[in-house]
Amino acid sequence: LRGVVAMDGPSGTGKSTVSRRLAKACSAAYLDTGAMYRAATLAALRAGLDENSAADEIARAATGARMESGTDPGAPTILLDGDDVSAEIRGPEVTGFVSAVSAVPEVRTALVARQHAMIRDATGDGGGIVVEGRDIGTVVVPEAPLKVYLTASPEVRAARRGRQDAKAGRQSDLHVTLADVERRDRLDSSRRISPLYAAADALVLDTDRLSADAVLDRLRELVAE
Ligand code: C5P
Repeated sequence: LRGVVAMDGPSGTGKSTVSRRLAKACSAAYLDTGAMYRAATLAALRAGLDENSAADEIARAATGARMESGTDPGAPTILLDGDDVSAEIRGPEVTGFVSAVSAVPEVRTALVARQHAMIRDATGDGGGIVVEGRDIGTVVVPEAPLKVYLTASPEVRAARRGRQDAKAGRQSDLHVTLADVERRDRLDSSRRISPLYAAADALVLDTDRLSADAVLDRLRELVAE
């Protein structure tokens, strides 16, 4: 794979699984931008901030911490001030606050600049990278030759989240998870800066009716073209 594959869509569509598997299969790098917004959110929480804090305070805390994102699809890691926070960023405190942090314009500007630097590193010598998020095909890399937008119904997505939580040893209730999925969709789609939507030239795939294997087969064909 050469260049960038932009993978967007809401949570629970199988986006991470498919993105990692595609990157592995194509010997490409992988960047999980959601993990970056989550790590920035954890930095704000560690600074004692919450939904009621002022945007400039959130921006300062969220962008001030040192963040290092791994790009190996076999072992994605993210470090915050040198600590591996890969597990902690999936917890309920971060999940409940991340949409508010990612709606702060200064946070997005800072993280998009880091994403551009990482994409340049990965593609500079003719390499490829699969980048997943909410605004990759619309804002971060609108010139990406392959843009994919995965969707699925909120019910299917909440059930997938529940299975992921159980696997990670986190207790969760399906009604609460569904409410959170719907709340984050609303916040991510209605925010003024970089709202979640499919780029006009994205391939839209509904994963209610497609398995991860089927999505992956389709994408591998497109990458090979
Ligand atoms: O993909 P994940 O569910 O880990 O993303 C967490 C949150 O980070 C999303 O709900 C969204 O608010 C934010 N996000 C974003 N832009 C991205 C990736 C994630 O705003 N490119």
